[in-house]
Amino acid sequence: MIRFENLRKTYGHVEALKGISLHVGEGELFSYLGPNGSGKTTTIKILTGLAVPSAGDAWIHGFHIEKESLHAKRQCGLVTQNINLDNELTVAENLHLHGKLFQMKRKERAERIHELLHYIEIADRMDSPVKSLSGGMKRRVMIARALMHSPRVLFLDEPTAGLDPAIRRRIWSLVKNIQQSGTTIFLTTHYIEEAEFLADRVAFLNEGKIAALDTPQNLMEGLGIWALDRVADQEMQTSFFRDREEANRHIAAREGSFSLRRVNLEDVFIAITGKKVME
Ligand code: ADP
Ligand code: MG
Repeated sequence: MIRFENLRKTYGHVEALKGISLHVGEGELFSYLGPNGSGKTTTIKILTGLAVPSAGDAWIHGFHIEKESLHAKRQCGLVTQNINLDNELTVAENLHLHGKLFQMKRKERAERIHELLHYIEIADRMDSPVKSLSGGMKRRVMIARALMHSPRVLFLDEPTAGLDPAIRRRIWSLVKNIQQSGTTIFLTTHYIEEAEFLADRVAFLNEGKIAALDTPQNLMEGLGIWALDRVADQEMQTSFFRDREEANRHIAAREGSFSLRRVNLEDVFIAITGKKVME
């Protein structure tokens, strides 16, 4: 559904993407994970036609993003990192505007708006100005707007950044629901637990390159099952074990305070990028 090969992007002297290749299957919920500045937004901008790659090719549902850009764009729904709704217009008016851009007829737009606003549980705020909504509601309206023209792929660029945990979980269940309705999802995030919870597969992006690519389960099992944290000299050291007994023997043979837990995706990221001391 999404395929890109050797994608590169340079901004002046900054090499934001250093040759990335990836294939995302139909109906997949794919998470693109990386720290700030690693190139997540740049990738999404290129795939949705908002930026031109310096080199490389990409296809959305078989349409080349540059040579068949109109067809490619038609397949994409985009929820940008920054909220870009028109604050002065109502929720419904924002959605109507988007539908018009995609040549949807008035009746078709009205029906779709009705359906989507019920879906995101905001139907009662249809005629409220966007400026009166909370941050979480605005995010949901952004998602509804991106779905107006029934795209095959939904790009979500950090859809839960800055939201409190309860609202974040509400967005997660909405995203899962959208996937279950058959839409392919490409989600960027710097919240590792978000990817661990939602994604079928994840790519770790580090300094413009893919550092790892697999299912969360496989990535975690590659490291171990148990993680043992030990604080020594004010520094946290983590060791990984397949076997709980082995971890217990490790504790018994050493001084200090330990805490044993399951391996998580964050451990994988630290192990790959080497951004924390490991034993
Ligand atoms: P992320 O979304 O992962 O935080 P970005 O894709 O926004 O990362 O940025 C990747 C790198 O490219 C960063 O070093 C950023 O400063 C740089 N960059 C992004 N957009 C521009 C731009 N329009 N002009 C110059 N540099 C940019
Ligand atoms: Mg970004």
